[in-house]
Amino acid sequence: MERTVIIGAGGVGNVVAHKCAQDAATFGEIWLASRTLAKADAIAADILAATGVTVKTAALDADNVAEVVAFLKEVKPKVLLNIALPYQDLTLMDACLEAGVHYLDTANYEPLDDPHFEYKYQWAYQDRFRDAGLTAILGSGFDPGVTNAYCAYALKHWFSEIKTVDILDANAGDHGLPFATNFNPEINIREITAPGRYWENGEWKIVPALSISQDYDFPEVGTKRIYLLHHEELESLAQNLPGLERIRFWMTFSENYIKHLTVLENVGMTSIEPVEYEGQQIIPLQFLKTLLPDPTSLGPLTKGKTCIGCLITGTLKDAGEETGKIATKFIYNVCDHQACYQEVKSQAISYTAGVPAMIGARQLMSGAWLRPGVWNVEQLDPDSFMDDLNAWGLPWHVLDVSQSLLP
Ligand code: NDP
Repeated sequence: MERTVIIGAGGVGNVVAHKCAQDAATFGEIWLASRTLAKADAIAADILAATGVTVKTAALDADNVAEVVAFLKEVKPKVLLNIALPYQDLTLMDACLEAGVHYLDTANYEPLDDPHFEYKYQWAYQDRFRDAGLTAILGSGFDPGVTNAYCAYALKHWFSEIKTVDILDANAGDHGLPFATNFNPEINIREITAPGRYWENGEWKIVPALSISQDYDFPEVGTKRIYLLHHEELESLAQNLPGLERIRFWMTFSENYIKHLTVLENVGMTSIEPVEYEGQQIIPLQFLKTLLPDPTSLGPLTKGKTCIGCLITGTLKDAGEETGKIATKFIYNVCDHQACYQEVKSQAISYTAGVPAMIGARQLMSGAWLRPGVWNVEQLDPDSFMDDLNAWGLPWHVLDVSQSLLP
């Protein structure tokens, strides 16, 4: 029987475990291991009630390579799904290499003391994974993940060359709370308060955080204000889409969200520099995390939908031949917060990140994506992954769009 290990029993880990259990024929014996055993146990109990599948649980420190290796050697899974935090990526990749297990994650490595994600740390494992005959899939969430697969699919089926990509991420959900983040607050706030960055004509352009914005009329969720952010898939897509002229990432935020974030930033609460408080060193952002609602608690509260997609302009091809015609297409998914909650007790942000992790792992289990080395999603054949998105809860749609975004 196959065995699968999921590490991380947070908001996204909950979805991944539920979805793997829904496909127990593929994933076999499923283990959910995390720092706090009680959280893994609570998820396993929910899954047993919902699906009748028993998920085994374990307490595990993913920062400790020796501990993870011993665990993997005992369980002997085919694949490890890293759904802990980006800080654990390298220790878990090391452990997979030592224990002979394929690896998949949803977010790229970021040093704890430097809010600056880059793929270089994980791309450096390319030779070691290849030589060990093991596959590592990086960034198989929604963005990165599905957005990368959308680009690969567009290049395979529609365009001979892609000129521009704008990744658009709209969360039109409302949880009714004054301020909360939809996934891990520390990771989320580090991402949003970092300078904006996009890639144009072969170089990176850097702009102050949230300084570029415009309105966009999204399918189903309507017109929303979108803000330019740096996002990790820009780095790999800029490298892997030949002929690309520009790639940017945009996310919606409400005025209320921006107002709270600005105040928190102005008073120093989003800083990762330690400060002395009553004889103790504390990191303001980590302290803030303890005050903010746990994202897993937002599930029952959040109403509304997400719409995430790629607005892609390129030269159309017909039967593999270039036509010379330029066109723009928007390929996207719409996800309903309440429907997600009913299915797996989670809001749509964790759902849209967790389902593609399960689907990416399906491609490893089936062999479709087994290719020794370290890969971003757009480097792998998108077709079976795209079919699985339709089959496992994240159906995609395509619109022909007459106009691209403002330059
Ligand atoms: P949470 O904080 O809710 O969950 C993280 C889980 O990992 C927690 O259960 C935590 O344990 C566990 N964990 C943390 N450190 C360790 C450790 N050293 N050893 C063992 N377990 C550990 O985060 P989310 O579920 O919101 O996010 C999970 C991942 O998904 C993140 O990397 C995030 O960046 C990524 N993500 C990706 C998206 C995408 O579209 N690609 C979108 C959203 C998120 P404990 O419960 O004890 O704190």
